[in-house]
Amino acid sequence: MPVFVTIWVFATGAVVGSFLNVVIARVPKRQSIVSPGSRCPRCGNPIAWYDNIPLLSWILLRARCRSCGLPISARYPLVELLAGILAVAVLRHTGPNWAALGYFVFVAALLALSYIDLDSWLLPHQITWPLLAAGLLSPIWNRRLAWADAAIGAAAGFAGFAAIALLGERLLKRETMGWGDVWLLTAIGAWLGWPALLPVVLLSAVQGAAVGTILIATRRDPDPSPAEAAAPSSDDDWVPPRHAVPYGPFLALGALEYLFFGDRLVSAWNSVLLRLFS
Ligand SMILES: [Zn+2]
Repeated sequence: MPVFVTIWVFATGAVVGSFLNVVIARVPKRQSIVSPGSRCPRCGNPIAWYDNIPLLSWILLRARCRSCGLPISARYPLVELLAGILAVAVLRHTGPNWAALGYFVFVAALLALSYIDLDSWLLPHQITWPLLAAGLLSPIWNRRLAWADAAIGAAAGFAGFAAIALLGERLLKRETMGWGDVWLLTAIGAWLGWPALLPVVLLSAVQGAAVGTILIATRRDPDPSPAEAAAPSSDDDWVPPRHAVPYGPFLALGALEYLFFGDRLVSAWNSVLLRLFS
């Protein structure tokens, strides 16, 4: 891919990332993602277009709001950077075709859902249901995905996680699996097809368990330090349990890993099985 194409695709992805920041901040609060324009979350002053250029503005403003001078979270340029990288990665992986555009919408939604889940422990239906519908329709623009694979992927993903959710509610009397996770796996099954389900669930479970174990092992004093307590609150009033992680970001990570490395992972897995059983 020529360098200028890479730069252009990265910049376009970063602009989409800037929009994802708006989605991440507003969708959980049921606010419009169209109007009003971007505002500083601390002082509420509108952000001028020249202070809202993805990545560059955060660097030029030295991570401070022009109006109130308070810090701007590194979250914003990080989401823009990740969206830019994912745009380039999808195009390199899929090639210049409509399927690449479709997959970019898919990974952008996964990125937004991950941060919403980290913030609020929610995977809003406003995103997962349209994502599922688009995944079921995606064979229209993605010739590599068969209609039946998408439909079976959605049905099997829903059935598998819904069974876990219902069993947890009935037998353990507690929430083992949120319905947001059920709908996210359903959408992933539609977009990637049923063969992706087992690898995605395994990848997400192993990595989620690893991160959870590390967080518990490195647990310090449960009381927030004075510096943490004095820090200005974020956009959201809801305080997540300390040292606990939501599952949605790991499902999203597993889906990304399968999308980009699935062929290699599956063939490596098959060769391990062949060596063990031959
Ligand atoms: Zn401000």
